[in-house]
Amino acid sequence: MRKFSADWVYPVSSAPLPQAVVVTDNAGKILAIEPRERHDPASVDIRSGVLIPGFVNTHCHLELSHMKGKVDTGTGLIPFITGVVTQRNASPELIGEAIERAEAEMLAGGIVAVGDISNVPDTFEVKSRGNMRWYTFVELFDFLQDEGAEKTFDNGKAVFDQLRPALGSAKALVPHAPYSVSPRLFERINSFNPASGMTISIHNQETPPENELFLQGTGGFREFYSRFGISLDRFQVPGTTSIHYALAHLNPANRTLFVHNTLTTADDLAAAQAWSPHTYWASCPNANLYIENRLPDYRVFMEAGARVTLGTDSLTSNWQLSILEEMKTIARYQSYVPFSDLLRWATLNGAQALGFDDTLGSFEPGKTPGVLLLEGMGPGENLGADTRVVRLI
Ligand SMILES: [Zn+2]
Repeated sequence: MRKFSADWVYPVSSAPLPQAVVVTDNAGKILAIEPRERHDPASVDIRSGVLIPGFVNTHCHLELSHMKGKVDTGTGLIPFITGVVTQRNASPELIGEAIERAEAEMLAGGIVAVGDISNVPDTFEVKSRGNMRWYTFVELFDFLQDEGAEKTFDNGKAVFDQLRPALGSAKALVPHAPYSVSPRLFERINSFNPASGMTISIHNQETPPENELFLQGTGGFREFYSRFGISLDRFQVPGTTSIHYALAHLNPANRTLFVHNTLTTADDLAAAQAWSPHTYWASCPNANLYIENRLPDYRVFMEAGARVTLGTDSLTSNWQLSILEEMKTIARYQSYVPFSDLLRWATLNGAQALGFDDTLGSFEPGKTPGVLLLEGMGPGENLGADTRVVRLI
C-alpha cells in the first residue's frame, strides 16, 4: 500500500480537498481518498504542492518526433504541411531513437495515455510495449479525389493491420481533415469502423484557408493542391464552414475528437453538439502558436459547455511534448480559464474522449490513473511560470 498527500488533492471527478491522502495499492490502483487525520503521518509521503491524476494527451504525431526544430515557426499551416511532406524522410535508426526519446519524455512528464496519429507503422513497436495506453488513429486522406479513395483505403488498412495494440490500447482508421477527405473515403472509413463505441479523430478548422475553401472555393488550399498537380475542378463548394462538411460525413454514434479548432465559432460548436452528444474538442495551444501564431477563443468553448481536451501535437510543431506546458500557455494568454477547468481538460475529458476513463482521468477507487505532484504553484493555487510536474506513480 502507498499513501501520498500534499497541500491540495484534485480528484477531478469531485471537488478539491485540502491535505487529503491518496491511498493506492502497490500497482497504483486508487483505494481511497481520506482526511490526513486518519493516517499516521509517518506512513504518508507528504509533499508541498498539488496532487493530480496522470495527464491524457489526446493529439500527438509520435512518428514525426525526429523533425524537432526542422520546420519554421509562425508561417501558417500550408507552408508547415509542405515542410513536413518534403522533410520527413530520415534513416529508420534516427526515426526509431526519436520515437523512444519522445515516449520517455511524455512518461516522465506525467502523461499516461496518448491519442496518436499514424500515417506509417514507425511507432507500432514502441506502442506494443504497453508503457502507457495508446489510441492509434491511422489517418487517411485522398486530397478530395474520389477516384483515389479505394487505393487510399487499402494502403491505410495495410498500415492498420500491422499494429497489435497492447492490452488497454486501441486503434481506428480515421479521416485526416475536411479539406483532404472525399465523401467516398469518409464512407469507406465509416463502413470499416464499428458503428459505435469508437473514437474518431479529425483535424478541424486549423487555418483560415480551410474555411475559405468550403465557403468560397478559393484560397491557399486550392493553390497548395495545384502545386502538387491535384485539381479541385470537380470539388463542389458547399458554402458552409469546413466542419459542416465533416458533420455530413462522420458517424455521430462514435465519439468524435475535433482537433485544433482555432477558427471554430459558437455556431460551428452548436451545430456539432446538436449533431452528436459524443463530441470532444482537442486543443494544442503550443502547436497553434508554433504554426499559426494564434490560439482558439476558449471562452466560446466554455460558454457552449464543450468538452475540451489537450494535446501536444508533434515535436515538429512544438518545443516539447508536455501537457503541463499546454496548460501553462493557456493560463498565460487566456488567464480567465480557471485551473480546475484546465485540469479537467488535461485529465478526465481526455480519458473520456479516448474511452479510457475506465482506468484513467480521475482519482476514483478502482482506477489506475497515475499520481502526479505539481510543485511551485503560483498565487491562488494557479499555474505559475515555474510550476513543475513530478511523477509519483
Ligand atoms: Zn495533428
